[in-house]
Amino acid sequence: EYGSHQPVIVQKDKLLGGLLPSGIDERSCLSRHESVLYHKELRHKPSSHLISRLRDYEALHKQCGPHTEIYNRSIELIKSGQFNGSADCNYLVWISYSGLGNRMLTLASAFLYALLTNRVLLVDPGVNMPGLFCEPFPEVSWLIPPDFPLINQFGNFDQKSPHSYGYMVKNDIIIRNSSTDGSIILPPFIYLHLTHDYDDQDKLFFCDQDQSFLQKIPWQIMKTDNYFVPFLFLMPTFEQELSNLFPQKETIFYFLSRYLFHPTNSVWWLVKRYYQAYLAQADEKLGIQIRVLETEVGPFKYVLDQIISCTMKENLLPQINRSSESIVLNQSAKQRKTIAVLITSLSPGYSEEFRNMYWENPTVTGEIVSIYQPSQEEYQQSENLLHERKALAEMYLLSLSDKLVTSGWSTFGYVAQGLGGLKPWILYKPDQNRTSHNPPCVRAASLEPCFHAPPYYDCKKKTATDMSKLVPHVRHCEDVSWGLKLF
Ligand code: GDP
Repeated sequence: EYGSHQPVIVQKDKLLGGLLPSGIDERSCLSRHESVLYHKELRHKPSSHLISRLRDYEALHKQCGPHTEIYNRSIELIKSGQFNGSADCNYLVWISYSGLGNRMLTLASAFLYALLTNRVLLVDPGVNMPGLFCEPFPEVSWLIPPDFPLINQFGNFDQKSPHSYGYMVKNDIIIRNSSTDGSIILPPFIYLHLTHDYDDQDKLFFCDQDQSFLQKIPWQIMKTDNYFVPFLFLMPTFEQELSNLFPQKETIFYFLSRYLFHPTNSVWWLVKRYYQAYLAQADEKLGIQIRVLETEVGPFKYVLDQIISCTMKENLLPQINRSSESIVLNQSAKQRKTIAVLITSLSPGYSEEFRNMYWENPTVTGEIVSIYQPSQEEYQQSENLLHERKALAEMYLLSLSDKLVTSGWSTFGYVAQGLGGLKPWILYKPDQNRTSHNPPCVRAASLEPCFHAPPYYDCKKKTATDMSKLVPHVRHCEDVSWGLKLF
């Protein structure tokens, strides 16, 4: 199915420049080593420091992961509620929460935080995680075993849980628990509430002083729907190590997503079949990710107008000739450039409009434009495995484009851009009264996702501060004016 030179490339860089560990069985997870055949060459090289920290992490995971002796002992701490202050391994439990794009961003954030704090990352399987992603670490699973003592409480943890760090701070629980000799009695586990509705006390997670307390707790359990990596760069505790790991700051999600997220074979076949049938032959591939935050399915004219305006203005799609005179082109069909446009959307309507536009009218310069949309699911169904497999396959297919247009605010689009190492043209969120935004889109200046709900609090100064003004590489996002993003 590929030219004879292809297997050589697989041999050469199937471990993505040392990013991936060697020695993992290839057949149980084909995407791990085959993705290099579909993605463009690695556009950036992982630092040797990142590579060595990842190998160290894998060793730690193997030593402390599920069903190891140390894990079994550590579980007893939770069951007994007693913790005397010393643990062999510390853990970070990631709770499965929100849509798939959100989950991929938060899982990458959680992994990086675990790496920085020498914790072992354990993943709540939620409904679909094992059906979507292969195990990323050799030998020992990243999934929390079903008999984990707190597993049935994950859904109930919230801001008001007595185990929530913010709640404990608000109610002075940690101080009150101090024993008579003045030393603080530490709980064996703590819940970190980092979802978009978090309050000032929950946000103390992002303060160095609070981190030095939190690091003493063996089990941290985190729920978030935000890509919080940009803020870790604003914390003196992590700043230096992060710069060593990622000399090019905008490559963090690019490397972490390629390291962590290997679609399972079922998803991978969805990707490969679609790619081979519709995209592989095209001279140029354009991805357009359309996410409309309305309750009705659409299509909406103001959305369509904005996408047409963006793609025409930025020369992403060829102009059409609407005059009835058809122009006679000197080129034969073979000589004409073919452009495959991959549209992803819950609504089938936008690709129908584009398909008609390029059927009813010729392009001015003769390109042949074909429009494809893999699924039309109409509404989000995060509990449905096939629905989420298609969503992941579509994010992946978008990441294989040459050029990409995404919808602002959408984590689905952030994942596609990150996996592909692409700087997309971001469609602005349409204006309030259902009108197209002008200008329609902006070219992203960095590959990174946006942290939508960052704290506005300077821990050192103990005052509200615009955190985008402190260092040159953490600034507001193109699409969310109060968000923070790495550049
Ligand atoms: P966000 O809401 O855009 O930030 O992205 P999420 O991925 O977190 O949540 C949206 C969910 O809606 C996705 O995970 C899918 O389940 C579904 N969805 C949205 N857009 C599409 C699409 O273009 N294709 C498919 N297959 N599903 C989509």
